[in-house]
Amino acid sequence: MPASDPSRSDPPAPHPTKRPTDAAYLDDRSAPDADGATSELPSELLNLPWIDPHNHAHTLSWSDRERYALSGCRSMMMVSSGYHWTPYKPVEASDVRFLWDDAINRRRAIERNHFFEAKLGLGVHTGVRIEDPDELLAAMDDYCALEEVVAVGETGVTPSQHVERWDADEQQAVVQAQMELAADHDLPVLLHTPNTSSESKREYRDDLGVTPGYEKNAGLGAEPVLDGENPALEAVKRDFEAAADAGLDEDRIVASHADANNTEYLMEETDCHLSYTIGHSWLIGVDAADVANAIDEYGPERITIDTDCANVLRTDPYAVKRAIFELYRYGIDVDDIRTVVYENPRDVFGLGE
Ligand SMILES: [Zn+2]
Repeated sequence: MPASDPSRSDPPAPHPTKRPTDAAYLDDRSAPDADGATSELPSELLNLPWIDPHNHAHTLSWSDRERYALSGCRSMMMVSSGYHWTPYKPVEASDVRFLWDDAINRRRAIERNHFFEAKLGLGVHTGVRIEDPDELLAAMDDYCALEEVVAVGETGVTPSQHVERWDADEQQAVVQAQMELAADHDLPVLLHTPNTSSESKREYRDDLGVTPGYEKNAGLGAEPVLDGENPALEAVKRDFEAAADAGLDEDRIVASHADANNTEYLMEETDCHLSYTIGHSWLIGVDAADVANAIDEYGPERITIDTDCANVLRTDPYAVKRAIFELYRYGIDVDDIRTVVYENPRDVFGLGE
């Protein structure tokens, strides 16, 4: 005990421990439960149900899917629109069709293994040019009518493709056609918005040929098809042009991968929902702090979070559960946390009802 501090000169109150512990020195202000009273920790956070409205869990391991169940995931939307999982280049419509069918075939068994609800998002991602996209768009009408398909996507104009460029106007037309289907079937659209990469502290060696943590041949990135000042934002603006032309209401759009580059535009210029992807923060630099800041600034009504967990990159199935605690630590109310991790994705996608 520091003798120089007069407030600490009295001997500590009797205590059962052999010598004084921190509790003998803490006052009510610094420790709510210093006097033994129960503090107001929100234990309901331990069991708060949550929904992941954007992942690729059908590509994960069984054990990763179990992690969702163990940490209280009530429902998820497994997105089957990725070019990552097609072995062939160029990608043909039938390759993407196989991915849709694979997800449809396995979905129910995944639910029966893990007890959470697993629904599907189906779409044409424009991260790689797809030959004969019209064939896919024509087939999508029947897929959209399936009960387990709860959204179209992920899709959205993408500034640079893998292997082969896809002209921005052609991409926009494919995005618009999917939005028309969504409007016809009264389905929401999961929008893939491009992220601006954060400053790295140091470059990786070129001769590895991959981005560490992301199983993708870095050297196969095609030259960008959008090269303005802010191509990532320009891409998003094209998506909303497409939505207007498709007659899709903006509040039927969930913009995934929301970040500092697009939040202001999405919040102030559109009526869409924003989903912050936090399952691979190491890659896109978005985490629970960004979500807390967005809630402070705009309220929780249009905000949700997703993991985007997939087998092609380093991702964390516990990301939402961790964020639930982190949002509370950052000062967000329990009710607002529930709105963001459960009620919003439930209401937009009809998940976990
Ligand atoms: Zn994704």
